Amino acid sequence: MKFPTTFMAVYAGVVTALLGLVMGSFLNCAAWRMTHGESVAKGRSHCAACGHTLSALDLVPVFSWLFLKGRCRYCGERISPVHPLAELICAGAYTAVVLHFTISWETVEYLILVSLLFCASCADLYDYIIPDRLIVAGIVCRLIFVCLGGDVPAALLQTLIGGLSISLPVLLLVLVMEKILKKEAMGGGDIKLFFVVGLYFNCKVNLVGLLFACVCGIGAGLLSQRVRLRADRHIPFGPSIAAGWFAAMLAGGKIIDWYMGLFM
Ligand SMILES: [Zn+2]
Repeated sequence: MKFPTTFMAVYAGVVTALLGLVMGSFLNCAAWRMTHGESVAKGRSHCAACGHTLSALDLVPVFSWLFLKGRCRYCGERISPVHPLAELICAGAYTAVVLHFTISWETVEYLILVSLLFCASCADLYDYIIPDRLIVAGIVCRLIFVCLGGDVPAALLQTLIGGLSISLPVLLLVLVMEKILKKEAMGGGDIKLFFVVGLYFNCKVNLVGLLFACVCGIGAGLLSQRVRLRADRHIPFGPSIAAGWFAAMLAGGKIIDWYMGLFM
């Protein structure tokens, strides 16, 4: 799918990027709050170090961080560059979805999925947790879009097959590995995330997503060996799942066509 004119594509891209920056800031903050026992809905944004309530000027995505040179305006404590980086990643992901799928219901559904994956990744990076409320939100969102489409029973079956296509084999594999290794092989949150992302795609795209996720996971693992990314060197798998399925969402269909073409 393509936008009718270049102007429309650029305009939609810019608006989406701005929306992505704002949503990135909100979702990153929501993930931080979920993993630090704070309410997502209540309470104004505050500095994590001094607790001072932040004004609107302190909350402009990316720009506030640049303007304040990466420090809190009130206590001078360093603010991690991870925050503006996360906002840029979310903006990039949103823009890629809109430019790829243009303006459609499918785009809305994928933007919601991307938001949930982004928030889950942030939470996993902060505290090795994929909050259950994100899992539930992902399932509910998919069910709503299934009900809005035609032939609901068939679509529901397809959705369930998609959800189980990766999560069930992975769950069985993990159970066997845990029996053999006698230690946790994979977090329950990761398996639930496999189920949720699987609901949105067919089995082929899910397989491509799993492949990409494994490549990302191996890449992150190798990187953590060379660079001390985290104090405990334990790398959460949630962001790799998100990145893998995001790539599959955009390129999965083309990759499957190319692969099948090799045998024709
Ligand atoms: Zn402060």
